[in-house]
Amino acid sequence: MFKKAAMPKRTCCGCREIKSKLELLAITRLKDGTIIVQDKPFVAGRSAYVCRKASCVDKVFKGTKKDALSKSLKTNLTPSIRLMIEQSVKKHHD
Ligand SMILES: [Zn+2]
Repeated sequence: MFKKAAMPKRTCCGCREIKSKLELLAITRLKDGTIIVQDKPFVAGRSAYVCRKASCVDKVFKGTKKDALSKSLKTNLTPSIRLMIEQSVKKHHD
């Protein structure tokens, strides 16, 4: 048995499950207001997290958790940001 190194845990904005950062996408707002989507949260900034699952991405853009991401990041998420997130999710399932 390998002992896993302690990974920082974050909550998905969609399903509210607590997961390791490796299982989540980080949507980060940089100091200048730019929003970036990170596979791994290399760049520091205000970040919100969502599972790499289309169902969770759906939840944070429509449904009960609508606006969870934008509230958490204190910014409006444009359709192009949503596209970036969706593409990052797809990438992991192809
Ligand atoms: Zn989730």
